[in-house]
Amino acid sequence: MARTVHAQPKFHIATPEQIKGGHVTDAYFVRSKQILDRKKIDKNVKLEITLKKRFPEGWEWGIFAGLDEALELLKDFPLDVWALPEGAYFKVNEPVMLVAGNYREFSVYETALLGFLCQASGVATKAARCKTAAQGRPVWAFGARRMHPAIAPMIDRAAYIGGCDGVSCIAGAELLGEEPVGTIPHALIIVLEESATATGFFDQIIDKKVQRVALIDTFGDEKFEALENAELLGENIYAVRLDTPSSRRGDMLEIAREVRWELDIRGYENVKIFISGGLDEDVIPQLNEVADEYGVGTAISNARVCDFSMDIVEIENDGTWELIAKRGKPSGAKQLYVCDDCGYRQVVYWQKPLAQCPKCLGRWEPRLIKYLERGKLLKPLPTPSEIRDYVLRQLPDKL
Ligand SMILES: [Zn+2]
Repeated sequence: MARTVHAQPKFHIATPEQIKGGHVTDAYFVRSKQILDRKKIDKNVKLEITLKKRFPEGWEWGIFAGLDEALELLKDFPLDVWALPEGAYFKVNEPVMLVAGNYREFSVYETALLGFLCQASGVATKAARCKTAAQGRPVWAFGARRMHPAIAPMIDRAAYIGGCDGVSCIAGAELLGEEPVGTIPHALIIVLEESATATGFFDQIIDKKVQRVALIDTFGDEKFEALENAELLGENIYAVRLDTPSSRRGDMLEIAREVRWELDIRGYENVKIFISGGLDEDVIPQLNEVADEYGVGTAISNARVCDFSMDIVEIENDGTWELIAKRGKPSGAKQLYVCDDCGYRQVVYWQKPLAQCPKCLGRWEPRLIKYLERGKLLKPLPTPSEIRDYVLRQLPDKL
């Protein structure tokens, strides 16, 4: 039972009011606003967000996430915003968002806006990579404990829309409208001093809709604990979970193979093998031969960020939009086109749209959609589950 807290706790977090009030910003944006305010300079600009250099860790694509919070930040301000739908697959140099409005009013929000998009897209992309590596097997997000609890729901949401099948943290699951997943920790087995006792109590007390997954590596060997738990729970057992510490692992695949063999020859072919602990998209393919489901923690919740940057690409002078950009950045607002038929992708100047795919001559649609007009949301946003389905439809067959 959670303890009731009466006074406002002093955690080191920004409040929603501070974020919406533009206080989570870099000082240089405040200084530029002071200068524009004093000189009474109002310039409408178009700012474009792209991943300019490269993805982290050699990734070749990303999953765009964090749009819902970005729109929450930007709505009610006199801005027009176009963006890729949340969950869109994207590549380097492809525009993911375009913001048009008065720079003096907008500048202090760049820090928070990029923060929402960079981290959520990093987590969603890592989740998508793990899900792709698992080749259809369920991947559960277990990483809440690795990150500051204030952002656990956001991380769980990004992990889920990126392709994870569910999350372990209650607050994250509530945000998603999904049931949290999880069974019992090693700690309960230690308190009860025996694996079988803990599993038995779990089966006796916990709601029947929670799948019976037995943790089999607390005191004894995985093979013997797997059999003990399977015999104890009989038909109720859904899976055995191997979370073997790295110091004892040796060859995880061999351990899992041995558990599978011993279960199978005793008639427990239906008992699934669930593996967690230190997994990522490089390790998962090595275990696919025998693993049925995965729990992934640190690799997803502590994913490297997608390093988006935001640049002015057009400026309004005397009612006319003029092309402008800093060195190294192509000027002009850009639209992304992707062909549904042949998969061809092209970034084009917004004012020169391409009616059809130049490769297969198929019809294609611009991918950046208008979400905000003068700060007003133009359409309802999809649910996390709908975004996740969209992500899964776009994922490649393998990494
Ligand atoms: Zn095409």
